[in-house]
Amino acid sequence: MAKMDFSNLSFSLTPTAFMYEAHYSGGSWQHGIIKPYGDIAISPAACVLNYGQGIFEGLKVYGGKDGKAFLFRPEMNARRMQHGCERLCMPPIPEDIFLDGVYKVANSNRDYIPPFQEGLDSQASLYLRPVLWGTGPILGVAPASTFTFIVYASPVGPYFKGGLKPIKLKVSTDMHRAVPGGTGGVKAIGNYAPGMIAARNAKSEGFSEVIYLDAKESKYVEEVGAANFFCLVEDKCVATPVLDGTILPGVTRNSVIELLRSEGFQVIEKKLSIDEVLNAKEAFATGTAAVISPIGTIHHSGNEYKLGDGEQVGEVTKLIYSKLVNIQHGIIEDSFEWRYSIDASS
Ligand SMILES: *Cc1c(COP(=O)(O)O)cnc(C)c1O
Repeated sequence: MAKMDFSNLSFSLTPTAFMYEAHYSGGSWQHGIIKPYGDIAISPAACVLNYGQGIFEGLKVYGGKDGKAFLFRPEMNARRMQHGCERLCMPPIPEDIFLDGVYKVANSNRDYIPPFQEGLDSQASLYLRPVLWGTGPILGVAPASTFTFIVYASPVGPYFKGGLKPIKLKVSTDMHRAVPGGTGGVKAIGNYAPGMIAARNAKSEGFSEVIYLDAKESKYVEEVGAANFFCLVEDKCVATPVLDGTILPGVTRNSVIELLRSEGFQVIEKKLSIDEVLNAKEAFATGTAAVISPIGTIHHSGNEYKLGDGEQVGEVTKLIYSKLVNIQHGIIEDSFEWRYSIDASS
């Protein structure tokens, strides 16, 4: 293949050579195979196309020194997908098949893993996208009888332009992402199209994303688009919205909580009101794609609120960014045992 250009990557699709495909039929999941990346054939009556029976995951392969490459807590993604399958009436993918797909796609696409870059500001990595769909045909609203699990990959750069540069967000006051009793707590494919218009409108006004509030009272912060939210409420005290079913339990969120605690911070998980957030000293969004994205300005009901001076990355944000990405890329010791070499296949 032609040499990949890993400079100036953005968060967009660059197809790679191989993908993994596994199937469920007759009551069980079968191990899949690696095949060339490409289009798939699907029935127009597939449950996923008509009724949205599908779920996805997102994780990354991080380039390390000396050609090494690592996965970060992939078993958490496997378990989250299983949990989501149950919510959407799909047969949970066994963890060993999920990991088989992840490791094989990482290894077969080694040429597409962006090499380690000093400073780790480029946020370049190989993004892996596992998807699981009800592909069997069905006319009435009911679960499919056959399912397909695919893992594909794409080299990516920063999710928000500029990488570690404070973003401007707008609070969505008229649209919500998730409702109590709904599917906000799992990566159901149907959760994402309804947010596109809010994000597009905010972007056309110069914002990077929207902040969603709870659907019941429009008072408590839930998420930043498809990333979790954190803010510094006092010195050495960080708050994040408590997982109540409407918030996606991010692997990055969980890791950041543990990192903060190990650095001597108090972390409070609670219902976090927008008023409290607008007075915070620092805030950031977390996710596999978003990494740690500093938040500089929040626009709410016609007013602009700056966090810190709105321009510089806060000290806590910097500290946690550095700890997280240096663990992910194999630069510092991983006392949490979060990191797996892609050679140590499942
Ligand atoms: C994927 C996702 C996140 C981040 O989860 P990570 O496991 O940290 O990548 C947060 N919120 C939403 C809505 C998501 O879809």
